[in-house]
Amino acid sequence: MTEESIFTKIINGDIPSDLLYQDEHCICIKDISPQAPIHVLLIPKKPIPRLVDATLEDQHILGHLMLKAGEIAEELGVADAFRVIVNNGANAGQTVFHLHLHLLAGQTFSEGMV
Ligand code: 5GP
Repeated sequence: MTEESIFTKIINGDIPSDLLYQDEHCICIKDISPQAPIHVLLIPKKPIPRLVDATLEDQHILGHLMLKAGEIAEELGVADAFRVIVNNGANAGQTVFHLHLHLLAGQTFSEGMV
């Protein structure tokens, strides 16, 4: 059996987190090590390891996460300026192998991607 990710432990309530939102498909928590004044994570309850591991079956979950990112940005008052980032693979900076969207806001970001 594959070991549970830290995010599955958070989803199951085995590890505490600053939970901002949850529904049947996902949770939204504050990142423990924020890289911007607002840095939250949208995490599907289904433990898809990386974006590239998602399949057609996950289409609804992926769409759901993107829609929720927009809604949560609205709720946080940052709908005018936020970034959504997915790191896929260790060399892209992924450290937790349970798919998640980073939502970053609250500062001015430079033009371009990084
Ligand atoms: P990655 O590097 O995989 O794209 O992002 C993983 C993110 O999860 C990092 O920004 C890291 O700070 C965050 N993180 C890791 N462990 C925990 C934890 O136990 N609780 C919370 N809230 N965030 C975590």
